[in-house]
Amino acid sequence: MSNTQHVNLSDYILSNGSSFPSSNIVYSESSNDESLSFEQLCILIRQINAGLQYNVGLKKGECVCISSPNNIYIPPIALGVMASGGHITPTNPLFTIQELKKQLVMSKTKYIIAHPYNLDTVLEAAKLSNISKENVWSIFDDPKKRVKTWKEILLQDGKEADSVSFSFEENMKTLIKIFFPVGQPKGVVLSHHNLISAAVGANKVVASSPSVNVYQKILGVIPLFHVFGILSFMLTSLYQGWEVVMLASYDLENVCQIIEKHKINSYRGVPPMLLHLLNNPSIVDKYDLSSLKLILVGAAPVPPALDRRMKEKFNIQVTQGYGMTETSAVMTMQTLENYAPGSVGQMLEGIMYKVVDKDGKEVKNGEAGEICIKSSIVMHKYLENPSATSEMIDDDGFLHTGDIGYVNDLGNWYIVDRTKELIKFNAYQIAPAELEAVLLECPLVSDAAVIGIYDEKKETEVPRAYISLNSQNEQIFRKDLEAITQDLHDFVNQNVIHYKRLRGGIAFIETIPKSVSGKILRKDLRELFKSETNKS
Ligand code: AMP
Repeated sequence: MSNTQHVNLSDYILSNGSSFPSSNIVYSESSNDESLSFEQLCILIRQINAGLQYNVGLKKGECVCISSPNNIYIPPIALGVMASGGHITPTNPLFTIQELKKQLVMSKTKYIIAHPYNLDTVLEAAKLSNISKENVWSIFDDPKKRVKTWKEILLQDGKEADSVSFSFEENMKTLIKIFFPVGQPKGVVLSHHNLISAAVGANKVVASSPSVNVYQKILGVIPLFHVFGILSFMLTSLYQGWEVVMLASYDLENVCQIIEKHKINSYRGVPPMLLHLLNNPSIVDKYDLSSLKLILVGAAPVPPALDRRMKEKFNIQVTQGYGMTETSAVMTMQTLENYAPGSVGQMLEGIMYKVVDKDGKEVKNGEAGEICIKSSIVMHKYLENPSATSEMIDDDGFLHTGDIGYVNDLGNWYIVDRTKELIKFNAYQIAPAELEAVLLECPLVSDAAVIGIYDEKKETEVPRAYISLNSQNEQIFRKDLEAITQDLHDFVNQNVIHYKRLRGGIAFIETIPKSVSGKILRKDLRELFKSETNKS
């Protein structure tokens, strides 16, 4: 596609449909027999688009929130909203009321489509965000009949509509306000042009790599509220006419059963999922996983030994991708043709990059520094946060990733560290500042700081809090430290989604180390943690 600038993302993704049979199943459910062929999907997108425009009166730029675990209706709903000119804001269905409310308010959501199991939370968050109950629809029949389904609202008369066309300005800038809610307090605004560019880049890698350019039946467990899910299960799979078998939540035994039953040959995952396959023979060995040939891992660092062990034990090839929400999911992709252990692969075509030292000076190939890129995959901006946007994207248009890495002479990239204050628990982002804000709400706490530490057993980072206790609170004199620690864990657990829990533990400290300007000196806390672990 030469000119992507005026195209609706929905049209782009469906534009390759003549290269495979329209009867190809593109989405199926792992838990029942429901499925959608490419032809059925295209009709559904046109109907949803018409329902939004004519039955609901959705206007260009109005935002629809999708709050549901993976299922076959999320792609047509998301693409239908995009086709109608609406924005989408996908959210983690396990968010607490307050977490969801924050996102609804920031994204100016007008309509919500939610799974029945989280409808109570959604309705409460909607009320707090002034969204009327009539604008909340259930993705499946609601057994408690609290709200209508999206089908009742949008598909009543079976009308269809073409996708809305955009001006150059809209396509480049404001159109698709996808605000990804992976735990980050900042909303990322991606345009149709951003996501089309990412899709074009990733599909070019598929076209040029014989090992990937094969019919794929993919296990769809990475959530569709994360860019990695969108890239894998919409931008590439649908363009290629591959089938995604949707799985609502991750469970190792279930994963193995589905691989065997559906003869899955391709899997998108995060590093701990590889560990689960390797370390649980009592479950895994019961199933025939021989159909599975390829696992593409991303969203977090992958220890190189895992690739080798997967190849030895299962004869499964593991390749990596590297990207971030702000770069529309991808920057680099590894294929078997350019495989190098420990590498995250090669930059997609057309991305300008530089690797810079602490003073912003470019370093040579092979030397590590901060990775910066300039490309049409770079987000339009952070939502209503111009200072965060200009901190991230410099005057020359380069996005500073906050990741430290290097590229060798063969063009293979390696990620070695991170400068930004971000903790990645499995693939989920945790912002230390958000947990600190929660802790400071607790009456037992005078000051708090959170750092990420690496849990070797789980092969992931976990958040650890350092707390300075509030000596004015008499509770702390009545209880021992163990009881106070438990109270603090309970307090945090009540206020945040499960993956933000303080799995790295809580430690007490007299004063939190800070710079003169009041910035928490996390480096000092990391040193402190090192000395604590050396002692034990
Ligand atoms: P997110 O926006 O949630 O996808 O998080 C993006 C961040 O995840 C990146 O800036 C990296 O710090 C990290 N990340 C993603 N993929 C990889 C990878 N393959 N290796 C190392 N870190 C990664």
